[in-house]
Amino acid sequence: MSTSTDLPLVLGTHNQKKGAELAEMLAPFDLQVTTLAQFSEVTEVVEDGDTFAANARLKAVQYAVQLGQWVLADDSGIEIDALGGAPGIYSARFAGENATNEENNRLLLEKLGDLPPEKRGAGYYCHVTLADPTGQVRAESHGICRGRIRNEPAGTNGFGYDPLFEIREAGQTFGQLGPHVKRALSHRSRAMRAILPQVVGFLQVGHS
Ligand code: IMP
Repeated sequence: MSTSTDLPLVLGTHNQKKGAELAEMLAPFDLQVTTLAQFSEVTEVVEDGDTFAANARLKAVQYAVQLGQWVLADDSGIEIDALGGAPGIYSARFAGENATNEENNRLLLEKLGDLPPEKRGAGYYCHVTLADPTGQVRAESHGICRGRIRNEPAGTNGFGYDPLFEIREAGQTFGQLGPHVKRALSHRSRAMRAILPQVVGFLQVGHS
């Protein structure tokens, strides 16, 4: 249960759909969750790390210092086996700076060509970092979700590569499956489940 002593938590992302997924996973804990959209003065963090972990830390730490607030940030992407793990940390800009989801998905399909299903293995990866208002990293976790890339998009749920990514456990894409399945099985939900006890412990002040 929330009390007036709970500390606010800012989700360090400008990606609305990602922010919504993170907020949904925090909802049962009734924390005071806000997003970067509520801070117009914030300067966008340059993600120039060379790992998911480095970029998640950059975002959590720099937004925390700028805002003087607790910040939870994720860095995530898709790693394609046949492409040696690409696009990885470059997933959002696979087809170029400011590429749309459709452009990224089209390029991925082009690169995989007519590879058979067994050679279309892929994994979503998510690293989550919690930083305190002074910019100290206080907790971190990661999550992985394995699957394969379809030959054509299916479904409209989710975002990014979701219409192409068929998850191993269900044999359907996250685009087809909808938010409840994504909440249970995604890379982001796995990372969040691992970090949630610490997030709640730091932010729910005065709970026994
Ligand atoms: P970030 O905002 O720098 O972490 O980039 C994340 C990018 O990875 C997104 O723009 C998508 O292209 C991809 N991505 C990460 N998580 C997901 C997901 O849950 N579904 C689909 N694409 C994702």
